[in-house]
Amino acid sequence: MALAGNVSKGVDLSRWEIVIGLEIHVELLTDSKVFCGCATDFGGEPNTRVCPVCLGLPGSLPVLNAKALEYAVKTGLALGCEIAPFSKFDRKNYFYPDLPKAYQISQYDLPLCRHGHLDIEVNGEKRRIGITRVHLEEETGKSLHAGTSIVDSPYTLLDYNRAGIPLVEIVTEPDLRSPEEARIFLEELKRVVEFAGVSDVKMEEGSLRCDANISVRPRGETRLGTKTEVKNMNSFRAVQRALEYEAARQVAVLESGGRIEQETRHWDEAAGVTRGMRSKEQAHDYRYFPEPDLVPIVLTPEQIEKWRQELPELPAARRERLMREYGLPPYDAEILTTSRKLADFFEEAARQFPDPKMVSNWVMGELLRLLKAEGKELDQVNVTPARLVGLLQLIRAGTISGATAKEVFEEMFRTGQEAAAIVERRGLQQISDEETIRQLVQKAIAANPEAVESYRKGKEKAIGALVGQVMRETRGKANPQLVNRLLLEALGKPGQ
Ligand code: ADP
Ligand code: ZN
Ligand code: MG
Repeated sequence: MALAGNVSKGVDLSRWEIVIGLEIHVELLTDSKVFCGCATDFGGEPNTRVCPVCLGLPGSLPVLNAKALEYAVKTGLALGCEIAPFSKFDRKNYFYPDLPKAYQISQYDLPLCRHGHLDIEVNGEKRRIGITRVHLEEETGKSLHAGTSIVDSPYTLLDYNRAGIPLVEIVTEPDLRSPEEARIFLEELKRVVEFAGVSDVKMEEGSLRCDANISVRPRGETRLGTKTEVKNMNSFRAVQRALEYEAARQVAVLESGGRIEQETRHWDEAAGVTRGMRSKEQAHDYRYFPEPDLVPIVLTPEQIEKWRQELPELPAARRERLMREYGLPPYDAEILTTSRKLADFFEEAARQFPDPKMVSNWVMGELLRLLKAEGKELDQVNVTPARLVGLLQLIRAGTISGATAKEVFEEMFRTGQEAAAIVERRGLQQISDEETIRQLVQKAIAANPEAVESYRKGKEKAIGALVGQVMRETRGKANPQLVNRLLLEALGKPGQ
């Protein structure tokens, strides 16, 4: 295992078992907030999307957003949870300026969803990770700490636009056994919520956040060790790195005869270390009590069943189907299901083209490469499945070569034009006329006596220089198979 930071250098983890449980917060994709009508979209001038309810002004009353409830239940269903027929909201009391009421409306002893699981694959091994609970709560405001870090910040600015956005908290059992496994779990969880259509899960915009609980114990020990909770990771990579550091730190403390203190620790991405912040509040410190301003949530089996039926196909099922229906290898199915939009794009194209593997190669290859290079999302570019198919048809018909197609695709990607129009305008049609190519072949032979000589002496590779010359002359448009055949005809077998 690669270890970050000094503390972890030289620590031998082989005698120890790592135990990890995650608490993940996911913002739900509703148009309005969970207990008021304010808009939820990201951005906007600070403190412009607020009202008496989400600012917690005295006398204001919350009303539950039906869509938020539906999405929370669908999150639970997508994670194989049992949905509670009766649940309620509770007040979680704590004083922190991002929470103007001095309590957060959350759920305590009767959460909406419980006892679920998510299956992942880690290094070829199937693992089932238990989901303890999924509950609905309100998002807090955003604190903007001045200075370089929260630890030494001189003052804090507050933006309440985010306060009251519906949030689900997903809590896992302490079933994860390595930092890598935690990262893989998060990647799959992200896909599940995105496929379920309940969140856009953009970690960089903070719509998915993760706190990680971690402890270590000697291998063979069945009791859990004392855990720490690590916060402030901004990417799945960071979660893995923070946990690698923290596991090694804990082992180093224990092996030198020390004790782990139960505490919250802050991940410092730049320094690659975790630092203690404050000792973890015990649950009773929050003085949870039932929220008197909201009625309990009562769900009929029919309602739950209806929402279950509405759930779209989830990533695991989709991967299976892509392999079965289109004959794709597992690797392709995995890549194509990294987002629902990408899977939809592939399928829409594959339905219009006879060679699904070729579609998959182009989507995984050129399309993803350009998206990554431009830092764009699929819905921000002009290439549609139908336009990709248009390009593939030109390759299949022999109108353009594979190399030319890549060039054409880049232009399609940038301009949104049809492949055929670009090929026509730039005169990129492949030259497949035998007479034209034969003449170019003769010219290449005449101009490269050395290559011809060594080919005739048996060095078959020397023919490459001749092919290259023809391709250069035609700016890559000569049909390569034809060039090869005509060259061989003209030169005869090597050694003759
Ligand atoms: P707390 O009371 O501190 O909130 P919980 O029992 O509610 O702790 O668990 C919170 C999270 O921590 C869960 O994801 C759980 O799986 C995980 N967890 C609990 N105990 C441990 C442990 N000893 N080591 C690692 N993770 C743990
Ligand atoms: Zn509001
Ligand atoms: Mg807890």
